[in-house]
Amino acid sequence: MNQYKKDFPVFENKPCVYLDSAATAQRPGSVIEAEKYFYENMNANPLRGLYELSMAATDAYAEARTCVKDLINASEDAEVIFTRNTTESLNLAAYSYGLNFVHEGDEIVTTVMEHHSNMLPWQMVAERTGAKLIYLEPEADGSFSKEELDSKITDRCRLIAIAQVSNVLGCVNPVKELAKRVHKNGGIIVVDGAQSVPHMKVDVRDLDADFLAFSGHKLMAPFGIGVLYGKRELLEKMPPFLTGGEMIEYVRLDGATWAELPHKFEAGTVNPAGAYGLKAAIEYLQGVGFDHIRETEDSLTKKIFGEFSKLPYIHIYGSPDPLQHTGIVSFTIDGVHPHDIASILDADKVDIRAGHHCAQPLMDYLRVGNTARASLYLYNDEEDVDSFLASIKKIRKIMGFQD
Ligand code: PMP
Repeated sequence: MNQYKKDFPVFENKPCVYLDSAATAQRPGSVIEAEKYFYENMNANPLRGLYELSMAATDAYAEARTCVKDLINASEDAEVIFTRNTTESLNLAAYSYGLNFVHEGDEIVTTVMEHHSNMLPWQMVAERTGAKLIYLEPEADGSFSKEELDSKITDRCRLIAIAQVSNVLGCVNPVKELAKRVHKNGGIIVVDGAQSVPHMKVDVRDLDADFLAFSGHKLMAPFGIGVLYGKRELLEKMPPFLTGGEMIEYVRLDGATWAELPHKFEAGTVNPAGAYGLKAAIEYLQGVGFDHIRETEDSLTKKIFGEFSKLPYIHIYGSPDPLQHTGIVSFTIDGVHPHDIASILDADKVDIRAGHHCAQPLMDYLRVGNTARASLYLYNDEEDVDSFLASIKKIRKIMGFQD
């Protein structure tokens, strides 16, 4: 058994084989306790009150921001903006940066493999500004050929928006190289880190990312807390996304001036309990270590690939190399709808995802309506994979095939 599994109360309370961590991760007890501790010991509206409880909430919120800054190696706390999730973070970048700094005739480059959350905001920016939206198309293994990059990233490219890890293919995209290309033209890169930050060391300065968005809930933090990292020089010149309480310096009847970063982008009452839980999640993650996470995910993915290769009716999407999947295995079974795969597995208490994974254009590109997806995380073990595989091997028979 995986030594970390016992840290997750859900596995004791509701025993299951959880293979849907790309949708949301399970939470260790320490994260659940941290959020509870906040409400029991520090609950007040932070950044407002001048009494002890409110100051404790303010401190907890600030400590969480520093913890995120260190995790992604941002230069300063002010570059870390708390949001609700990746989707809100990407919309903040699109509305506040995109609508104001991308113009008619400019080009925005994204990819056909993006999650809708990193596609629709850029469609909106292109439509409203008159910029051209260009989609990079990957090879079957998820990589982009040099010709594809050379022909589609021109000197008119002002912005690249790309996932660091695809939530369907699991491939790691060449963010650092793309950042270099776009910076040469004076453009910027927006990185969707929803599937990368929970699984690998992401260093915004090493990548030279201008923006990085991610969700707490995929890295074991509570729901409702997310992050947008942005370089200070960009955040300074952007107008606020939302306006109202807490994000102002001074309000007059005829206008207002904005608070310092990061508060300019955090309108209204914030989520200090979620941020405190996020800090606990990051500490847990760091205790396990990204090397260990990678080893666990890789060895289990290898096992799945090994067994799947013996079953000719199973097709895996993305690279044939299990080590290029960041623990994400999207697949189909001939003659069986992915929803039936998920339902049959559910009867065996094996939880996977089936559907378009909020990536319909990628499904079209792959010429598949839906896929099943198993996604791994640090608490999964050989027993989980054995149960998954045993259940998978029964499916064709249940559906009436004589293999
Ligand atoms: N981008 C990617 C690559 C994702 O996998 C997801 C979540 N499935 C998102 C964005 C959106 O995350 P959220 O729903 O937490 O905003």
